[in-house]
Amino acid sequence: MRGKKTGLVFFPAFDWAISPTHPEREERLLYTRDQIFEEGVLDLPQIKEYAPRLATVHDVARTHFCVPRVQSQVTEAHLIAAGSALLLADAVVSGEIKNGFALVRPPGHHAMRVVHGNRGFCNINNEAILVEYLRRHHGIRRIAIVDSDVHHGDGTQDIFYHDPDVLFISFHQDGRTIYPGTGFPHELGGPGAYARTINIPLPPGLGDETFHYVVDNLILPILRDFQPEFIINSAGQDNHYTDPLGSMRFTAWGYAEFTSKLKPHLAVLEGGYAIETALPYVNLAILLALAGLDYSRVREPDWPGAVKENPDRVSRVKRMVDQLLRVWEERDNIDIEKIFGRGPFYERQKKIFYDTDYIEEEQLERVRRCPSCPGYITVDSQGVRGYSYSTRVFCVSVPFQACGACQAEAYDAYERAKGLDVYQYVYLQDKSTDTFFSFERDKKREWVSEGPKVGE
Ligand SMILES: [Zn+2]
Ligand SMILES: [Zn+2]
Repeated sequence: MRGKKTGLVFFPAFDWAISPTHPEREERLLYTRDQIFEEGVLDLPQIKEYAPRLATVHDVARTHFCVPRVQSQVTEAHLIAAGSALLLADAVVSGEIKNGFALVRPPGHHAMRVVHGNRGFCNINNEAILVEYLRRHHGIRRIAIVDSDVHHGDGTQDIFYHDPDVLFISFHQDGRTIYPGTGFPHELGGPGAYARTINIPLPPGLGDETFHYVVDNLILPILRDFQPEFIINSAGQDNHYTDPLGSMRFTAWGYAEFTSKLKPHLAVLEGGYAIETALPYVNLAILLALAGLDYSRVREPDWPGAVKENPDRVSRVKRMVDQLLRVWEERDNIDIEKIFGRGPFYERQKKIFYDTDYIEEEQLERVRRCPSCPGYITVDSQGVRGYSYSTRVFCVSVPFQACGACQAEAYDAYERAKGLDVYQYVYLQDKSTDTFFSFERDKKREWVSEGPKVGE
């Protein structure tokens, strides 16, 4: 039975910032804290506040390949941000609370499977770590992530692109007009997970009306079909009309209404950089919506009234919604070989730019196309920092649902790569046994991390 309360973790990460004047800094949450406190929300019987806890290095290694190791990519603040989501998830699953809001930073949705550094203010992906934790510790299989940040959740997309059991839906400002420049309707997932990735790029300037058209006519119908056991909202507030990084015109009310329709088990804070004019109102409204309380009176002091939307842009969005809904409905009838070709592997060549740390990464990702499971994944990745220093690594990932043949092939690929001089580090992440291996060539040293057995 699910409890009646909404859980809240609040963690502003005082000791972590990219730089003191960077838009992603602790003040983002301090005004929210004041607003929630002034409204007396923490005294309401429907809200239960929790102290944050740390995720483990193993929780991170289950999800990412951090170069050279997890400890070099995360600080305690990162582990607390990720751990807060895990703590709330435990409370939801045990029935202590019905849902929760992790009001934490640093954010995570731009962090991909392989991590050479910080990109888009993110080192590790809080929602992805949560998904893998739910599968490992709570046996939850079908999970949906809906990303409502103004920026495309490219890291989350990357991590679950070949996973048929994780549905990833992102709506965001059109990538031709904003970082990270991806998230187009044709990005639909790999051959084993076609249409489990859905992207809805929105032209700049649109407001709540179009936002809710997309929610009602695309997102909710897809979720009803997919029937996830757990819904996560990657809750970015930078679609707000006052946000300095985005150009959308959503309001706090629009976000709250979305939350009450989506009914996420957990909302995890992502972006949102209007620290005084948007975040306190949006976060408060979302919290009230999660708790089933009245959010109709949460209104920004400078609310300009209803937005006049550009009719051409609106009709473009409506056409896209129709097309994507058709793709979704036809997902199991389409000819996969026609789209992805044939052969034992599906390959993607990727170039990834780390804007914060100025690293250029090149990747060759290969997925085993297996009739009995989602297939293991290998990533040959080279990260170039500046002009001289580069690190080349080889990563092997065995999925939770792996068949015996894929698991054996994956271990062979790991052993072979350990013998190749070109790789400084070689990693094997076996999600089916919750074991992580990391090999360091220089020192001929292997590190093995095994998670606790389920039930312990
Ligand atoms: Zn954002
Ligand atoms: Zn297989």
